[in-house]
Amino acid sequence: MLTSKEVRESFKKFFEERGHKIVPSAPMVIKDDPTLMFTNAGMNQFKDIILGNRPAESKRVADSQKCLRVSGKHNDLEEVGHDTYHHTMFEMLGNWSFGDYFKQEAIDWAWEYLTTVAKLDPNRLYATVFEGYAPEGLERDNEAAGYWEKHLPVSHIINGNRKDNFWEMGDTGPCGPCSEIHIDLRSDEERAEIDGASLVNKDNPQVIEIWNLVFMQYNRKNDGHLEPLPAKVIDTGMGFERLCMALQGKKSNYDTDVFTPLINEISRLSGKKYGEDEKVDIAMRVAADHVRTIAFSIADSQLPSNAKAGYVIRRILRRAVRYVYTFLGRKEAFLYQLVDVLVAQMGEAYPELTAQKDIITRVIKEEEDSFLRTLENGIRLLDSYMEKAKAENKDTLAGNEAFVLYDTYGFPLDLTELILRENGMKLDKEGFDAEMQKQKQRARNAAAIETDDWVEVNPGEEVFVGYDSPEAETEILRYRKVKQKGKEFYQIMLSRTPFYAEMGGQVGDRGVLVSEDGDTIEIFDTKKENNVAIHLSNKLPANPAAHFVAKIDTEARAAISANHTATHLIHEALREVLGTHVEQKGSYVSADMLRFDFSHFQKVTPEEIRKVEHLVNARIRQAIALEERRELPIAEAREMGAMALFGEKYGDKVRVVKYGSSVELCGGTHVANTGNIGIVRIVNESSIAAGIRRIEAISAANVEALLDDMQDTLREASALLGSNTDIRNAIQKSLNENAELKHQVETFMAEKIAMQTKSLLDNAQVVNGVKLVALLGTNNPDVVKNIAFAVRRDSAESTAFVAATSDPANKPLLTVALSDDLTAQGLNAGQIVREAAKAIKGGGGGQPFFAQAGGKDASGLPSAFDKITELLGLK
Ligand code: ATP
Ligand code: MG
Repeated sequence: MLTSKEVRESFKKFFEERGHKIVPSAPMVIKDDPTLMFTNAGMNQFKDIILGNRPAESKRVADSQKCLRVSGKHNDLEEVGHDTYHHTMFEMLGNWSFGDYFKQEAIDWAWEYLTTVAKLDPNRLYATVFEGYAPEGLERDNEAAGYWEKHLPVSHIINGNRKDNFWEMGDTGPCGPCSEIHIDLRSDEERAEIDGASLVNKDNPQVIEIWNLVFMQYNRKNDGHLEPLPAKVIDTGMGFERLCMALQGKKSNYDTDVFTPLINEISRLSGKKYGEDEKVDIAMRVAADHVRTIAFSIADSQLPSNAKAGYVIRRILRRAVRYVYTFLGRKEAFLYQLVDVLVAQMGEAYPELTAQKDIITRVIKEEEDSFLRTLENGIRLLDSYMEKAKAENKDTLAGNEAFVLYDTYGFPLDLTELILRENGMKLDKEGFDAEMQKQKQRARNAAAIETDDWVEVNPGEEVFVGYDSPEAETEILRYRKVKQKGKEFYQIMLSRTPFYAEMGGQVGDRGVLVSEDGDTIEIFDTKKENNVAIHLSNKLPANPAAHFVAKIDTEARAAISANHTATHLIHEALREVLGTHVEQKGSYVSADMLRFDFSHFQKVTPEEIRKVEHLVNARIRQAIALEERRELPIAEAREMGAMALFGEKYGDKVRVVKYGSSVELCGGTHVANTGNIGIVRIVNESSIAAGIRRIEAISAANVEALLDDMQDTLREASALLGSNTDIRNAIQKSLNENAELKHQVETFMAEKIAMQTKSLLDNAQVVNGVKLVALLGTNNPDVVKNIAFAVRRDSAESTAFVAATSDPANKPLLTVALSDDLTAQGLNAGQIVREAAKAIKGGGGGQPFFAQAGGKDASGLPSAFDKITELLGLK
């Protein structure tokens, strides 16, 4: 029996022998595609080949691809753990033909691999074929059925509808029928009883799809109609974990050697056994599955966060924490302890995991800790909601309350339900769903983007000339209208373009397009989509078919390039000053500033920042010339000493950017020599996640502006201090004077309060045996409070101090202080003040012996005073 590792290799070898080029997995987290956050199928990395934007280097390709299905079109999250064959992250084995072989070879080879290499029992295999769809004039895929009939009896060939057997890339674009291969893993007795064919695509966990062969032969246009695709494409995807299950004779993916090491470790750490209690089993599967996803995304530089892809990862992590918390009974961080086993198991096939083990562990631990605190807060809030409901004799938690818990506190709904059930209560699920619906609608309105069909103007492919030239003679290839958030604009593709499209953290270029007859339109941004630059403009030229000159804003570009080169120098200097554990985790480069995120476990000290600045600025003064190599195969780039970067896509020829000892793989624009940067200054250093620091810096003219500002500040400060020699001394002198004055004021105050207290006590009336010390008029609130305490100290029995004062800004204040014998009789300053404060339109309170209340209406002070004396029984 093959081990999972051998299975992966056998697949690659099989297709290599049949003329396929074996390529590495693309990253799982996609950084530069606005339409997709995660790779969810093997074909994603070949999308631009399939769309014809990039030529295929090899017409036959095969690989094993890390996929994630937790958002958008493919979202299996809710299944994961509950069933035994859907994962969040899984590996997809696939083979492709770009305009080469088609249905026959795809089917024959799939059959040959499954029955001779994987040695699956042919009697347990079923194939589905597209049954046709009359409204679109599509017939049954008899061609595919015919090839299957060579291998399978007709009873094992099953018609499938449009939903299961017609694959589409999106609303528009390449599409075609597909043919799935299913396997029946049930026992012989069960198979004798119920025919496997009747269970295909019926969610039976033992009769499952393992491989999908997609035959792309059409292109769907914007109006919905289908055109034949010029170069037909084979795109297949087989679930690696499911194949392992079938081949290793298991009934669950989690019983294969892909998962057993993790399950065993979870069992060891939690002290619970797998296979005894369904709820515990689900939690264990969730933990084993999710920790893979989280670790792989962190290795792909996607940290859990509050937005977009980061938020998806955070939610997956929280889902795992919650299952572990509830069903494995672990109330402390747990998942991070599984990273060791995961790395031991998969680190060889995925070296990025080994390289980043420390940071993966720390990030997971920190996320777990912070979510566990959230859980506690949520539980407290839920307790208070339940108390309130019970006090009102209700047994249902309101939908909006559950939603507040869910949305604002990140408190999972099923946990809310569980706790409610434990307390004999229910959830208003309809109310909750309604709130959820409202929120989704809000999100949809914000995100919706509508695009028209491309209008073709000239044939051809786009060529980027922007590394060498700020302008280019060009023609419009095609354009289309786009509407987003109520705004309309145009996307334009050019035959030759100097415009850099936003990528790798560097913002897109701005500039203009000038036609031969002088018509000028402004390009406000440039973005990359499916590997081509898309120029954004609010307007179309009067004649799109004219010849144009495309010109970028050279001043902005120079500033951007200076900041980008500065980023490389800072990266290098950080590694020299802090250590080689510093790795880039993200960056942003614009004309105004640069931002650089990197792994490091402590705050970078001011001294270290100085050192980095000095190293960088020394290299700027050396005016080191750029050495640039384009179209370099990855292996050669590594040899040149480029920092080991993971996540390059197959076929990518990389560009190496070198300034002396700084060597990086980078597609961005850079200065001709470091001297052009002028100077760099780091303006901020902060933490953005566990083990990740962020540096913000500026360069060139922006530093000049900063220095001007600093100098002006100093100049003005010394003018204010009346000193133009030693400003430090002048400030110190002024601080000393200030402290001395403060001390004097405090002494005077104390004397004044003592005097005033004495005179108030001397003039106090005695009413009903109680000394009433009254203070009225304008007084500073601090002084009033001090007098109140002095009165209590100096006249400790049968004394009531009552002040109805206003401060210099005419804000009224009531103050009542009572001697202890009076409070012992039941008088309460807090209650009295609260009652009397109504007269000044205010409120307040305090303790029985001392209380104050502010208000809005000083004209009510006399009646408030009367009220107080009345309540004290002194009237
Ligand atoms: P299913 O109906 O079982 O969810 P699918 O139709 O979504 O499968 P495809 O999109 O055709 O699957 O993906 C190709 C193959 O990838 C499937 O045949 C299956 O073996 C595997 N696969 C799909 N989704 C998952 C998942 N969430 N976890 C593990 N393997 C999967
Ligand atoms: Mg699916």
